Amino acid sequence: MVAWGVRWMFGLAVVVACFINCHAGTQVATLVIDGDTITMRERAPGTAPSSPKSTQILLLALDGVSRDLLYDLLHSGKLPHFAELLGGDDFAHADLDDRLLSNLPSTTIPAWSAVFSGTPAGVNGVPNNEFFIRETKTFAAPAPVTFVDSAETLEVYTKGAVNTLVDAPSVYEHIHATDPDALIWVALSHFFRGADKMFVAERTAFVKMLAAFVEDGLPREERKVTSRKPYVALDNGAIDAVISHLASGPVPDVLTVYLSGTDLYAHVAKEGPDEARRAYLTEVIDPALAKLVEQMKKRDMLANRWVIVTADHGHTAIVADAAHAIDTGDDDAPGVMKAAGWKLRPFAASVGDADPFDAVLAYGGAFGFVYLADRSRCTGERACAWDAPPRYREDVLATADAFYRNNETGAVAPGMRGALDMIFVREPRRVGEVQRPFEVYVGGGKTMTVDAYLAEHPHPTYIDVSRRLDELAVGRHGDRAGDILLLAHDGDRDTPEERFYYAKPFRSWHGSPSKQDSEVPLIVANPHVSAAAIEAWVGAKLGDRPYQRKLADIVLGLRAKPPG
Ligand SMILES: [Zn+2]
Repeated sequence: MVAWGVRWMFGLAVVVACFINCHAGTQVATLVIDGDTITMRERAPGTAPSSPKSTQILLLALDGVSRDLLYDLLHSGKLPHFAELLGGDDFAHADLDDRLLSNLPSTTIPAWSAVFSGTPAGVNGVPNNEFFIRETKTFAAPAPVTFVDSAETLEVYTKGAVNTLVDAPSVYEHIHATDPDALIWVALSHFFRGADKMFVAERTAFVKMLAAFVEDGLPREERKVTSRKPYVALDNGAIDAVISHLASGPVPDVLTVYLSGTDLYAHVAKEGPDEARRAYLTEVIDPALAKLVEQMKKRDMLANRWVIVTADHGHTAIVADAAHAIDTGDDDAPGVMKAAGWKLRPFAASVGDADPFDAVLAYGGAFGFVYLADRSRCTGERACAWDAPPRYREDVLATADAFYRNNETGAVAPGMRGALDMIFVREPRRVGEVQRPFEVYVGGGKTMTVDAYLAEHPHPTYIDVSRRLDELAVGRHGDRAGDILLLAHDGDRDTPEERFYYAKPFRSWHGSPSKQDSEVPLIVANPHVSAAAIEAWVGAKLGDRPYQRKLADIVLGLRAKPPG
């Protein structure tokens, strides 16, 4: 906190080196934060300031908003300004899709990485809010779960941390490839590589949000910080930044606005995630959108603009105590690993080069990720060679079996007894090779395919599990999903008291394959096109895999040739 406060104090123009992983090769770029703006691209003198004849788009990206919850509020008239943004007229020009599903795990950073790259995690390399990268032996944590470090969160904006992690072109880079004049603005979205400008909220809003969410309440069992204020300030900061930049000059052809407050507050709200989110959407988001709609109308920006609304995941109520939180102590997953003979990587953003760890844990709501080295090759105190895969039987299956047995007995980690719904394993390939699909570990060294297991053990609340696991784990970066996936009983359970989750104590989390966590809104609207025509067009884009990565196809499809 102190470190970054000081960084901001050194004048308005803060220059931060940023290594942007561009597709033509890795090149060094510079992020210049001037006031609330990061300019990603300077236009050459004499070039057009924007591309007003191209398809105009507003993408409203909401964090932690479930499909049913949003549609219900819209249909019951509780979000009048939101509805106005969608063209009013009782949604005559808006398609409210009812099929879109989140990534697995249903969490923020992988969801938006897929949305804004059009690729699944197994390809773009961003599978979780935190994860291990074998080839560089580094721990990427744009939204840390196993440790507390607000600097990591800030680096999403100050250093473009997610921009460097996503190993695929962004939707903005695709747009600029065909229309270099297009003016693209992004407000507070994690993945903004290729945009012209990125707006961050006024800095004190950041500090307050981080103080409330990341640093203050987190280690305590009974959270004391349940005020909505810091999140309201952050969302209003994002909207106000956009509005102030819309006062004069060319208007953006493509504008992405990301609002995180609904999710952040839902995690800690005493009244539970559903009541908290309904109130937040009606009392905070809708009035904020009123200001945006007014300013966009003033600049005649809504007359023929496509408005796209989506969210990253839903929410599931949990109990905020040590009995339900699968934490980083030896009572929980680390206890199983240590009893199985593994030397765990310390829970921190970075550890010394010589650290002899041979296993890594990464967390995120319903899922825990386990990464293993080939421990026969890690001798003594020497650092392991992580680019080689672990051995299937001696390392992967042996460890899966340790979790399987502890789940029954609690013998080595009593906090995890009965906590696991499924344990997924697969025979690992080398880093960079397309990884195999996960299967379910069923004890005694045996596995079953996910579909066969679910046919024998129905999980009525889960949706489209095996294909979404393939999106996560099959692909050239499939190894980043780990060697073992530990799915907690969470989205399969009816009450908070029966649910477990990988995080410090919270009152709500997400990440599971349940409909509640996975069903997300997708609204596409244009004032000149009928809802039916939009529905047909969107349906064709989603095909039989209605996944978040299709958002990029929708944006690019509209830019190329919109319906109507
Ligand atoms: Zn969340």
